[in-house]
Amino acid sequence: MKKNTIAKLYAREILDSRGNPTLETEVTLDCGLKAKASVPAGASIGEHEAVELRDMDKKRYGGQGVLKAVENVNKKIAKKVFGLEILKQQEIDRAMLKLDGTSGKAYLGANAILSVSLACARAGALMENLELYAYLRKIYQLPTTSRQLPVPMFNIFNGGKHADTNLNLQEFMIVPFGIKGLGEQVRAGAEIFHALGEVLRSNYFDTDVGNEGGYAPNLDSTVQAFDMIMEAIDKAGYHAGNQVGLALDVGASELYDPQKRLYVFDLDDHYFITDQLISLYRDWAHKYPIFSIEDGLAENDWEGWEDLTNEFKRFKPLASRQKMFLVGDDLFTTNSERLKAGIKRGVGNAVILKPNQIGTLSESVEFAKIAQAAGYTIVTSHRSGETTDDFVADLAVALNSDFVKFGSLARGERVVKYNRLMEIENK
Ligand code: PGA
Ligand code: ZN
Repeated sequence: MKKNTIAKLYAREILDSRGNPTLETEVTLDCGLKAKASVPAGASIGEHEAVELRDMDKKRYGGQGVLKAVENVNKKIAKKVFGLEILKQQEIDRAMLKLDGTSGKAYLGANAILSVSLACARAGALMENLELYAYLRKIYQLPTTSRQLPVPMFNIFNGGKHADTNLNLQEFMIVPFGIKGLGEQVRAGAEIFHALGEVLRSNYFDTDVGNEGGYAPNLDSTVQAFDMIMEAIDKAGYHAGNQVGLALDVGASELYDPQKRLYVFDLDDHYFITDQLISLYRDWAHKYPIFSIEDGLAENDWEGWEDLTNEFKRFKPLASRQKMFLVGDDLFTTNSERLKAGIKRGVGNAVILKPNQIGTLSESVEFAKIAQAAGYTIVTSHRSGETTDDFVADLAVALNSDFVKFGSLARGERVVKYNRLMEIENK
């Protein structure tokens, strides 16, 4: 028997950062080597994401248990992948896809499949005695560039589905693109994060944090969040525009009322049709150094996305970047077919990459390659329900992602990923 073949899979139910169940899977090779990985979970889940298998047994975890997915790993998937060579990641992923046989991975669950996919990659890296990012580059023939590491988009205000407070916009992020070196970018992010805490405290706002570790106060208006961020950047001694830009994840699918065909911002008591919302973004971008808007429109509003893309085609953001990034998250859902359709329509110019939206590592890498070939910018991302697994940091580096989105500068499941990037920077 070959030594680097899969001998055992062991999945179990663990808790994520929101206290909901998710999976951790351990793979054991015939040589005795073991590796583990766990999978995250979203809250604002795109309609076109692969299926996250939940037990729906209301007597356990309010129906959120993942015992069926655990059993699928331990029985069905295990039987299928036993004896496969660990270094043949694509073959392992293909075997699971074949076994599943559905387009949305509803039979086995994308959560079950991904936990195996990631654990196998980690075991392969150990087997080859390589850092995980280097191993991923090797097996997927990804180029090693001399470019700097991805620039973090640090989340500092949480709204939408990530907090119970009144901010409608899901995420406000600061992006220290004008600061050299990952470690210094993290320092700038943390200093601004703390300065924002001071700004909030001095204005008698709450400084508790939301699901992704950003502050989650009840505010008076949406633009108040921008003004306080600008004040915090200044207070921390950085220059908004040259050093630090702003990025938004609107999470617009969650704000869209399909019956009324309106986007609802109830904090500001405003209702927008698509064109009005695009104008609002333009007004904000004229006033604040916003250079990236994620999910600015709903996931099925393809025509709106075309207009949004055209509107910002020649726009020069106040942040000294060349262009406005229009990032598709719920729009593309790390799905190569949806991305190809988007490229054909000339929609957006950047993608969010979240492996659990599609369910295997190999499909995630394929998605990144398609995006890069079409000149789309890549933002590799965590989910709002996370674990302390830092796999996604290595994946972001391996893919030569332009940006990463791992949440705020607080909470262990967020900072573990930035800490891993800093570790890679020093290798
Ligand atoms: P989610 O949020 O993990 O809840 O989907 C993250 C995002 O929308 O980017
Ligand atoms: Zn998003």
